[in-house]
Amino acid sequence: MSAMKINGAESAARLRAKVADAVARLKTDHGVTPGLAVILVGEDPASQVYVRNKGRFTIEVGMQSFEHKLPADVSRDDLFALIDRLNADPAVHGILCQFPVPAPLVEADIVARIAPQKDVDGLHVINAGLLASGQKAMISCTPLGCLMLLREHLGNLAGLNAVVIGRSNLVGKPLAQLLLRDDCTVTIAHSRTRDLASVVRGADIVVAAVGRPEMVPGDWIKPGATVIDVGINRIAAEDGKTRLVGDVDFASAARVAGAITPVPGGVGPMTIACLLANTVTACCRIHGFDEPAELGA
Ligand code: NDP
Repeated sequence: MSAMKINGAESAARLRAKVADAVARLKTDHGVTPGLAVILVGEDPASQVYVRNKGRFTIEVGMQSFEHKLPADVSRDDLFALIDRLNADPAVHGILCQFPVPAPLVEADIVARIAPQKDVDGLHVINAGLLASGQKAMISCTPLGCLMLLREHLGNLAGLNAVVIGRSNLVGKPLAQLLLRDDCTVTIAHSRTRDLASVVRGADIVVAAVGRPEMVPGDWIKPGATVIDVGINRIAAEDGKTRLVGDVDFASAARVAGAITPVPGGVGPMTIACLLANTVTACCRIHGFDEPAELGA
């Protein structure tokens, strides 16, 4: 391996420490404690783990954590009534509904019900629109985490060629917007892209957000490029168990890239840290306080 491994766990720990400092300042200067409400519908085991981790980190940085667990068959009306209460609750500055949710609930409807200023996942169309038009938005946590890792590693991104593979509302599109805002020349690739290999070969920055295990091989990567692997895929391991891999073939890509995020331990930890950072940002905006610049994009 010649590439530098970008340690997302360490970057996330540093960001959480900055969040904790900001939370302490909000308490002493203004008597306000940021609060994050997380809604979990049903009993999906992976979602339960995510929600538990979010709650643990929220408390660790000194914020208030509100967990709302609803049965899988909760009605849309009851779920919306809860969201309305949280929208109106002055102790709650961020609201997140853990996805996926069981049918017939529709994720887009749930996001639309959350007050945009408390939408710490950055998924509301108002926030997507603000970001796309270059205005102050709540920015989706995973793209924000990717951007922070890139800035930390590369400094100024201006003029670099960036390829984002994947065009989801959650990751690909907002990340492309953020890279554009940082003056990269951005290409968004997707399942209909022709000759993806040659598109990727031209990139100084490659972000893979696809959900296909190890689909980007090392010989697609330009020597010295920076590779951010967002993918989280569970595959069968030789010992009969399973293991997590990204969308990039780490072993071959690491021989060519200048720097690369591992899976696990790359983008994943940054996502939760950015959720905490967004909650502080939301709290400051709601109260009209100065926003800590180090927590945003
Ligand atoms: P989506 O399924 O919503 O989007 C996947 C994107 O990949 C689509 O735009 C799709 O194109 C594109 N795609 C699919 N196949 C190909 C292909 N063969 N070549 C090029 N592009 C292709 O996924 P998400 O964006 O939600 O997530 C992507 C990955 O990131 C997943 O593995 C997910 O688990 C992971 N993830 C990780 C997070 C973290 O914290 N680390 C957070 C969020 C997600 P098209 O639009 O044409 O269908």
